[in-house]
Amino acid sequence: MRIYLDHAATTPLLPEAREAMEPWLGHTGNPSSLHQEGRKAKAAIDEAREAFADAFGCLFAEVLFCSSGTEAANLAIMGTALAHDPSDRRRILLGATEHHCVLHQAKTLAKLGYQVDLLPVDREGLILPESLSDAIDENVLLVSVMSANNELGTIQPSQEIGRIAKEFGTLYHVDAVQTFPSSARVDDWQADFVSVSAHKFHGPVAIGALYHRAGTTLHPLAVGGSQERELRAGTENVAGIVGAGVACRWVASHRDELEKTIKLSRDTFAQELESATFSVTLAATLPGHCHIRYPGLDAETLLIRLDREGIAASSGAACSSGSLEPSHVLIACGYSEGEAKEGLRFTFGKDVSVSMAREAARIVKQSADEIRASRQA
Ligand code: PLP
Repeated sequence: MRIYLDHAATTPLLPEAREAMEPWLGHTGNPSSLHQEGRKAKAAIDEAREAFADAFGCLFAEVLFCSSGTEAANLAIMGTALAHDPSDRRRILLGATEHHCVLHQAKTLAKLGYQVDLLPVDREGLILPESLSDAIDENVLLVSVMSANNELGTIQPSQEIGRIAKEFGTLYHVDAVQTFPSSARVDDWQADFVSVSAHKFHGPVAIGALYHRAGTTLHPLAVGGSQERELRAGTENVAGIVGAGVACRWVASHRDELEKTIKLSRDTFAQELESATFSVTLAATLPGHCHIRYPGLDAETLLIRLDREGIAASSGAACSSGSLEPSHVLIACGYSEGEAKEGLRFTFGKDVSVSMAREAARIVKQSADEIRASRQA
């Protein structure tokens, strides 16, 4: 039996979403075409857009579909930078533990003439609102801070950050890939842009969405046709968007029970792992995250062993694994390079039962003990 504990990387496709997608995989009809086939496809996209608008708590026209959370975050940040003049407001603030889809834009932003500053985090990956208050001024065009960190699960004070940003007339982007659909509405955060990704909430891969507040201006990154109100050209992936819409509605309406189930399994796992060092107090994290270290034990060695023993876990962001670099998230939290290479992320999902969590903890403990013992021998 395999126990999948890497839900922060991607989640299984919801059967309801798969079923809804199926007819669209074989449908011929471009949503931009005026004939019946095209209009039918457009109506299906509109239904999904309604689902996202409800979950964001925004207008239908404020939801844009694209290819990924990565593209949504690129459009929010780079699209904003291109739509403004750095001589008006020349600074952009990014959280130091943002996903690479945010941080790796810094070089291009600098080429455009913007000064990019990183907001520091504490040892648990939390951005203290005071550090934003210290850094922000009337020259800041945009601040981008995720709602929760993908590696550590640390929940950020999004509402407080939004409040401070508004005081300075600064635009605010929230990467909500790890939390959407949640009970938070875009107005609770006073966000101008929120990027999300369907495969993190049981939708298909390669469907992202961006909430963009009416009245904000974005420069499109993909130009061509007039899809997505001329902000994102390219014929839409109807089947994917339909699946994303169904997953969004399903997760939003089952959220409370899902969170409870996931948290129970995660807490059971954590309780049984008493010998590990926990990177973040569980109460400060998302309900499915458990980030630990076994000091002196390299994460990669343990992960390879766990994979053989039937457990899928990770050391951090899926798109960075395989890179020899230590996690930029842990480095930003103040860990040494060696410590950062010890970080292990277990992320729970709706199909992980308490008994699976217990079994996983047993295997993790045993594997860690055996690797340590073999080193001492
Ligand atoms: N932002 C965060 C916080 C993520 O965890 C991820 C994916 O791991 C992304 C953005 C990128 O999303 P996508 O995989 O849809 O490009």
